[in-house]
Amino acid sequence: MDWIPFNDLSRAIAAQRVELDAALAEVLDSGWLVHGPQHSAFESELAEYLGVPHAAGVGNGTDALELALRAVMPSGRDVVISAANCGGYTSTAARRAGYRLRYADVDPANHVLTADTVAPLLDEGVGAVVVTHLYGRVADVAAIRAVCEPLGVSVVEDCAQALGAGAPGSRTGSFGDVAAFSFYPTKNLGALGDGGAVASRSAETDAAVRRLRQYGWDRKYSVADDGGRNSRLDEMQAAVLRVRLRRLDEATRARRAIVERYAAAASDRVRVLPIDAGHAAHLAVVETKEVESLQAHLAAALVRSDVHYPIPDHKQPAFVADQSGTFLATTEQLAGQILSLPLFPELQDDEIERVCAALASF
Ligand SMILES: *Cc1c(COP(=O)(O)O)cnc(C)c1O
Repeated sequence: MDWIPFNDLSRAIAAQRVELDAALAEVLDSGWLVHGPQHSAFESELAEYLGVPHAAGVGNGTDALELALRAVMPSGRDVVISAANCGGYTSTAARRAGYRLRYADVDPANHVLTADTVAPLLDEGVGAVVVTHLYGRVADVAAIRAVCEPLGVSVVEDCAQALGAGAPGSRTGSFGDVAAFSFYPTKNLGALGDGGAVASRSAETDAAVRRLRQYGWDRKYSVADDGGRNSRLDEMQAAVLRVRLRRLDEATRARRAIVERYAAAASDRVRVLPIDAGHAAHLAVVETKEVESLQAHLAAALVRSDVHYPIPDHKQPAFVADQSGTFLATTEQLAGQILSLPLFPELQDDEIERVCAALASF
């Protein structure tokens, strides 16, 4: 018997090979390599999918977060509120922009920020809250906005794990002031390399992101904004993403169905985080007090697993010096109780059955 991989990107590539070859050939024939027709078309198609007027391609998801933060940070403020259980990307992005992090705890049932965990941390130094739709779950952005807006605090959605979450007309990425996306190959919409995007409903925010992603230019060779950089999505990736965006909803349904099978099979020593309405099912995460023995049990059944994420941001070696007073009871407890199961749309029926059997016999 073979190992059941945590992810296997070659399967989607094989299934889509004809379409991908055609899309890449179109780019080669066009002679456009950056910011050409594929890129413009992808930006429009993504914005339309999300139901927002603007989407701007960038080089990756971490850049998307950084540029989004810079674009909406009110002047004179420098504190960013974030969860500490989301892999550290927001922390990296905010710190690069020169902002300070303040971490809010998460809801014990859903693992995401709530208005109740954010509100007590708001003060006049706070410029933005980053809400991560972790694992693909739709966080309650409206409730968080309601406590932020009166204080002039911007709300950024981190949709790196949640493209396709929500419902048509109310997609994640359309709820906050601005939203960041990653097209890293393992994401629900993955490129054949790196990629990212920033979506917003504000023409002003969109224009700021478009300046910042290309040296701070407002037009060729005219640097209007300091803090700019080079962060572009290239034509090859844009062409691939256009092919895959068309298949996204179908892939999301497949992901959700797999997690639902895991949930139905799992023994009562394992809690599969529920795939509730609008969940994009990026990761199949289970909670258990016995992570190590579950991981060993799965390995004995040749099932790969992983932890997202083992080290909360305020405990990261590079950040810990700035966070001596930070204690997050729920975040710290959950970090030791989570395990992610194999999940990608091309998992085969017999593989899913084997994961289910291992979950049932634990
Ligand atoms: C992957 C990810 C990012 C970063 O995206 P990159 O394209 O790898 O820079 C940011 N936030 C979350 C929640 C992610 O999962």
